Amino acid sequence: MAGFTVAIVGRPNVGKSTLFNRLLEQRKAIVDDQSGVTRDRQYGIADWNGKIFNVIDTGGFVARSEDVFEREIRKQVQIAIEEADLILFVCDTTTGITLQDEDMADVLRRSTKPVLLVVNKVDNQERALYATEFYSLGFEKTFLLSSISGSGTGEVLDEVVLHIKDEEEATETDKDGNPLPKFAIIGQPNAGKSTLLNALINQERTIVSDIAGTTRDTIHTHYKLFGKEFVLIDTAGIRKKKNVHEDLEFYSVIRAIRAMDEADVCMLLIDAQNGVTAQDVSIFSLAARKGKGIVLLVNKWDLVVKKETNTARDFEKEMKEKLAPFTDVPVVFISALDKTRIFQGMEKAIEVYENRNKRVPTSVLNEIMLREIERYPVPITRGFAIRIKFVQQIPTAVPSFAFFSNHPDSIKEPYKNFLENKLRSHFNFSGVPLRIFMRKK
Ligand code: GDP
Ligand code: GDP
Repeated sequence: MAGFTVAIVGRPNVGKSTLFNRLLEQRKAIVDDQSGVTRDRQYGIADWNGKIFNVIDTGGFVARSEDVFEREIRKQVQIAIEEADLILFVCDTTTGITLQDEDMADVLRRSTKPVLLVVNKVDNQERALYATEFYSLGFEKTFLLSSISGSGTGEVLDEVVLHIKDEEEATETDKDGNPLPKFAIIGQPNAGKSTLLNALINQERTIVSDIAGTTRDTIHTHYKLFGKEFVLIDTAGIRKKKNVHEDLEFYSVIRAIRAMDEADVCMLLIDAQNGVTAQDVSIFSLAARKGKGIVLLVNKWDLVVKKETNTARDFEKEMKEKLAPFTDVPVVFISALDKTRIFQGMEKAIEVYENRNKRVPTSVLNEIMLREIERYPVPITRGFAIRIKFVQQIPTAVPSFAFFSNHPDSIKEPYKNFLENKLRSHFNFSGVPLRIFMRKK
C-alpha cells in the first residue's frame, strides 16, 4: 500500500523519539524544527523486510500550562487517528500508568485504526514484571520493549508490516492502457493549492473525471494539457471541510506525504511572501529521498513588488541555498490568482516526469561518462589506482546508475557528487533525484 503511515503518540519523555530512531535504524530522519508549542517533529521512512512505510514521531508538547497541554495532546491523538494507518501508543514502565496515559488510552480505544500499545523502557526482567500492569489499559496488542537497547522492537515491526497490504492500487491508465503520469499539488496551508487547482480546472474543459472517496484521502482529477493526459492529486478540497485542523502543520504534512507517495512528480507550492520555511525544506527532502520528481512553484508572485530586475533570480538563489544539496530543480514563479505562468508550471511537471522515465542507452552513457572519468580520475588512495570501467543505468523507477570499479568502496562521496553532476549536465535530469551505486567489477 503506497504511503502506509505509522504515527507514534504518547506523552513527553516516554521515549517516542528514541523509539523513532530505533525503528529507522541508520536511516537519517528529517527533523522539522519548529519553535513554539511543539518540540522537533520527525518524519522518516522505515524499511522492514522490504516493506517500506512512513513513520512520524508526533513530537512532544512542551507543557506551558496543564490546560494547553491536555488540549493539544488530545488534538494530536485525534489527528493521528484520522490520518495515520496505524498508531503506536508509547507508555513508560518506569512511571507506571499515569492519568495522561489513561486519557490518551480512552481516545485511542475508540479508534477504528489499529493501535499497538508499546510499553517502553523495559530494559530488564524486573521491569518486565512491572510492565504487566499496562495490560489493564485493554489493548489487544501490547508489546514490552526497550528502545534504548532495541530489544523487542523486531516484534513490533513484524506486527506493523502485517497491516501493510500488498494489493496494488488500481493504476489509472489512458485508453491504450498506459499508466498516466501522476502529479501531486502539495504545500503548506494557504500556499495556494486550491486556488491553483481551481485555476487549472476552470480553464480546461477536457477533464475526464473526478475520483474522490477512494481508500486514499486524496482527490484524483484526470486532466489533459498539450495533448497529454495525466492525473492531478490534491488534498486541498478535503482539508477545507475540516478546517478545524487547518493551523496544524502536523495535519498538512501528513496529507502532503500521502499525496506525495501516490505521485510521480510533486508540484511543491512555496508562498512567495514567506520564502522557503523549515517545513518546506522537510517536505522537499522527503520527496527527494522518496525519489519523486519535483517542481518548485513560487506562488503569489503578483504580491512581490518587482522593483528590481533581479528579484526572481535572488529569490531562487536564496531558496536553493536552503534546499541544497539537491538544487537541479525547475522553479516557476506563478500567480495562481492571476493565472500567470500556471501552464508553464504544468509543462515543467511534464518535463520532469519525462526526465524521471529517461533511460540512457549504455553505449552513450559509457562513451560520455568514461571520457569525463578519464579527464578527472578517481583520486589515488593508499597507493593503488582506482579505475571505473563501466557504467550502466539500472532499470528502476528512480533513475539509478551503477559504476563498476576495481575498488568500489574506496570511491567517496565527493567523487560520487562529481559523477552525479556530470550525469546531470549531459543528460538533463532536472527535477529528478538520482541514485549512484558503486559496484565491484
Ligand atoms: P519523548 O519525549 O517521548 O520523545 O522521549 P525521548 O525519546 O526523548 O526519551 C526520553 C528519555 O527516556 C531519554 O532520556 C531517553 O534516553 C530515555 N529512554 C528512551 N527509551 C528508553 C529505554 O528503552 N530505556 C531507558 N532506560 N530509557 C529510555
Ligand atoms: P491552500 O490552503 O494551499 O489551498 O491555499 P488557498 O488556495 O486556499 O489560498 C490561500 C489564500 O491565498 C487565499 O486567500 C487565496 O486567495 C490566496 N492566494 C492564492 N494564490 C494566490 C496568488 O497567486 N496571489 C495572491 N495574491 N493570493 C493568492
